[in-house]
Amino acid sequence: MVFKINRAEFSSKEEFIKSGRRCGAPNPSDLQRDRVRREIASLRQSIKGRVESVTINVQFHHITRGSEGAITEEQRKKQMDVLNQAYSRKGIKFTYKPESVVTVNKPAWFSMGMGSIAESEAKTELQLAPENNLNIYTAELQSGLLGWATFPFDMAGNPKRDGVVVLYSTFPGGDAAPYNEGQTLTHEVGHWLGLYHTFQGGCGGMGDELDDTPSHEGPVFGCPGDGSNGACNPGEKAPIHNYMNYTDDGCMNEFTDGQFERIFDQILTYRSGLLIGPDAIIMENTP
Ligand SMILES: [Zn+2]
Repeated sequence: MVFKINRAEFSSKEEFIKSGRRCGAPNPSDLQRDRVRREIASLRQSIKGRVESVTINVQFHHITRGSEGAITEEQRKKQMDVLNQAYSRKGIKFTYKPESVVTVNKPAWFSMGMGSIAESEAKTELQLAPENNLNIYTAELQSGLLGWATFPFDMAGNPKRDGVVVLYSTFPGGDAAPYNEGQTLTHEVGHWLGLYHTFQGGCGGMGDELDDTPSHEGPVFGCPGDGSNGACNPGEKAPIHNYMNYTDDGCMNEFTDGQFERIFDQILTYRSGLLIGPDAIIMENTP
C-alpha cells in the first residue's frame, strides 16, 4: 500500500519512516551543546530566579498556493488548544489574535525546503519580532517533511531564521494522518523552546541531557505496546508518549518535569524577551 504524505509517495509507511523525513530540526554538535550548558550554568549563577509563568504570543503565517494550504479559524483554534493542553501543566500558555493572522498566496514559497532561499525570503518578509513572538509558518514543505524549528540558542546568531515551520496538513483536520492531530506543532515548539529529541545521540552520547527521559537508540514510530522499545539501559522503557519522540500524534501526551525545567532555563537564558508582565519571574532570595 502506498503511503502518501504531503505529495511525497512512499511505498509504505515503513519507507516514510526509514526516509527520516519527519522533523528537520538541526542536530546540534557536541561543541554547541557544551556552549549551551556553560551559558545556562553561568546565567543560573547570576540570576537567582525562576520562571513562574509565561504567555507566548503566536504569529501565524499561512503560505498557500491558491486555496491549497489555507487554514480555517476553527483549525487554528483547535491547534492552539492542542498546544496549550501540552504546555499548560507548568504555566506555559500560547495566545494569538485572530485579526493578526497572515495568509500569503505565494506558490514560490509554498513548497519551501529547509534552509532554502524560499524559506529565507518568506521569513525576511513576514517575521514579527522574534524576541517577543513565536512565529509559526505553515506551507507544503518539500519531500514529505513534517516540520522544523530553530533552537533558542541559535537566535542571537540568526534572528531572521527564528521560528517554527510545519506542514499545513498536520493541523487538526488536515489530511496528514496519522500526523494530523496537531502534535507536529507541539513537537517543533518543543525544539523552539530548547528541547532535544528523546533519542538524541542514541545510546552513545549525552542523550537529551535530561534524567527523566530514558535514553533510547532511535526514534520510535507508530504507537507500540509496552516494552523497552530500544531503551539503552536494562529495565528502562523508551518514552513513547513523549512529544519529543516520533510516535503518532494520537500516542503523544507527555512532557516531563525535566523537560519543563530545561525550557525555563532556555527561556531565561535566550528568550527573556518572552517574559512580559510582573508575575513572569519569581526572584529567589540570594543567600
Ligand atoms: Zn524534532
